[in-house]
Amino acid sequence: MSYFTDVMARIKTMSTNTTCPVCGKKSKQSITKLAKEQTMVCPHCKSLFVIH
Ligand SMILES: [Zn+2]
Repeated sequence: MSYFTDVMARIKTMSTNTTCPVCGKKSKQSITKLAKEQTMVCPHCKSLFVIH
């Protein structure tokens, strides 16, 4: 595996902590979703939210 594809594979599986704007609890979300501003689901209160 080349360095580039290795890095891309790592980025795809990376996640980051986001704070739900509804219940204020933190959850792990994919950073690719975050980067594309896709809708995320809070695992605590099931709210849909987008981080800009
Ligand atoms: Zn929530």
